Amino acid sequence: MVINVHAGHNVNGGAVGYVSESVEDRHIKDAVIKYLRQNGHTVYDCTVDNAGSQNANLTQIVAKCNAHHVDLDVSIHLNAGAADKDEHTTGTEVYIYNPFDVTNAIANRICKKIEALGYCNRGVKVNRSLYVLRKTKAPALLIECFFVDDENDVDVYKRTGADTFGKTIAEAIVNKTITSQTTNKKPLEVANTKSDGNNTFMVKVIVDALNIRRGPSINNSIVGCITDKGAYTIVDTNGSWGRLKSGAGWINTSSAYCKRI
Ligand SMILES: [Zn+2]
Repeated sequence: MVINVHAGHNVNGGAVGYVSESVEDRHIKDAVIKYLRQNGHTVYDCTVDNAGSQNANLTQIVAKCNAHHVDLDVSIHLNAGAADKDEHTTGTEVYIYNPFDVTNAIANRICKKIEALGYCNRGVKVNRSLYVLRKTKAPALLIECFFVDDENDVDVYKRTGADTFGKTIAEAIVNKTITSQTTNKKPLEVANTKSDGNNTFMVKVIVDALNIRRGPSINNSIVGCITDKGAYTIVDTNGSWGRLKSGAGWINTSSAYCKRI
């Protein structure tokens, strides 16, 4: 495929929360482009860093996009307006202009794959007013990756890293797994992992949703959620908390949430 990819806003534009949209959307954009190119696709970076205004930024992005004959235009943004205090991510959504072109299936795959990283899936939304969707010639989609002002969203992003986040989007676009060495992947941050035991055992989750936390207490941030009532291997304990063998984090293994098996 031939694909245009751009990050939204000027370098100092965009939303600001726990992270800055215009900083992180560029990191994610770079990874999307890297993995699409590694997979043999032709990609044009249509990002505009320093237009005079937000409107000028949009006009120049569209001019860059329409200078190439492509199969798809991809716009990468981060969302804002969550500002909630709950324990769940607000999540990801993808805007498309035409539900009857290729973007519908691609956007659905993007939502599902980002959901698998630990985000709430807000789904695919048809929008005929967004400028880049309206003015670009090729089929276009706009990804609102996650909310910069929801701490849960940003925690998942920090754990995932921009490189893996971008790879996830690239794989959704091309609809296959991209096998290549993941460079500069951020290491998993697991804080406060002082243990009081070192026994391995298995538990079955008995509640519909069990939070995975960065460390062994509710004071640690949420980095994921188990929703399959599945069996999990614990490789370390701290009080009633157990560290998942997968490295994803810690869960409360007390009998209210889990059964030893
Ligand atoms: Zn934006």
